[in-house]
Amino acid sequence: MTIYNFAAGPAVLPKPVLEQVQKELLDYDHSGMSILEISHRSQLFTDLYADTKARLKQLMNLGDDYDVLFLQGGATLQFTMVPLNIATKHHRAAYIDSGHWSVRAIEEAGKVPGVQADIVATSKASGYTEIPQFPDVLKDTYDYLHITTNNTIEGTAYQQLPQTTTPLVADMSSNFLGQQYDFTKFDLIYAGAQKNLAPAGLTIVVLKKQLLTDPNHPKNLPAMLDYTALANKDSALNTPPVFQIYMANLVLQWLETQGGVAGIAQLNQKKAALLYNFLDSSKLFNNPVKPAQRSLMNVPFLTPDKATDAKVIQAATAAGFLNLKGHRSVGGLRASIYNAMPFTGVEKLVNFLMDFEAQHQ
Ligand code: PMP
Repeated sequence: MTIYNFAAGPAVLPKPVLEQVQKELLDYDHSGMSILEISHRSQLFTDLYADTKARLKQLMNLGDDYDVLFLQGGATLQFTMVPLNIATKHHRAAYIDSGHWSVRAIEEAGKVPGVQADIVATSKASGYTEIPQFPDVLKDTYDYLHITTNNTIEGTAYQQLPQTTTPLVADMSSNFLGQQYDFTKFDLIYAGAQKNLAPAGLTIVVLKKQLLTDPNHPKNLPAMLDYTALANKDSALNTPPVFQIYMANLVLQWLETQGGVAGIAQLNQKKAALLYNFLDSSKLFNNPVKPAQRSLMNVPFLTPDKATDAKVIQAATAAGFLNLKGHRSVGGLRASIYNAMPFTGVEKLVNFLMDFEAQHQ
């Protein structure tokens, strides 16, 4: 039986990448050592690091004015590091609340001493089934405006970015390199890698170099929380996650073969459309999200009652469609169809759901 993994993260990785890892696990680049054993101070690793950074910037169409950090601590640590490092002039940050992970980002920013985190738009009242309307102008002056480009739990995503003159910061964890944006519109992007890029244990921060030398940058931050200190040491202030960076490198190479972000985003559109079209035509299943703001990556859906949801999940699991249970805060089902989920996986899932519906009328 072919298994399809619809988990929200850690998530499916490209099969050719896993095969390559298996093939070269005992001997990395003819070194006679495993990638799991090599030093982060070795030439082998410093070359790998430079190559990974260059590939990522190329895929994102970013120039010399951007730097990339390869960190640990997850996207969750960035909820703290972002305000700590860049809410340093006005000491105020604007947040758009589009769901669970935005709320977590706002809560953590509010804990940073001296920083005020304001919610400037929210879609809480609609149950987060849409992206909030963004005010045309921000009334106050802020160090940055923070958005969550893809809401992993609620299944919404920004199709257009807010028009703003305030520096734009994004938690892009769940649609990083899966949806096309003009990345130069952002001053800072962060993403946990465990959805579209690598196994858990790596966090990407892409930021304008200018932020690293800003005169308001605090001088006395703990080094591991300081973007400037981390950038000065090529993310190797302590031992970086060597294996995860190696995997990210392979995934980026795979992404190049898929036509880069534009190519994969087109395929993701096709995959998502297939599933949404089915859900919209179904009498049993329902996706509650406003159609224009649906995520390409995470597709939540519900039947009319919890018992039927559970039955679908049980039957799907038995048929090899794994991890379809919705997040505990919203229930129902959720299919995460990241870059590495093949089109056939979605096609087979839709056929399965169709059969289930036909049998349960
Ligand atoms: N932001 C978003 C949008 C997420 O989906 C997640 C994880 N599901 C997080 C933040 C938290 O990520 P991490 O576990 O890497 O801290």
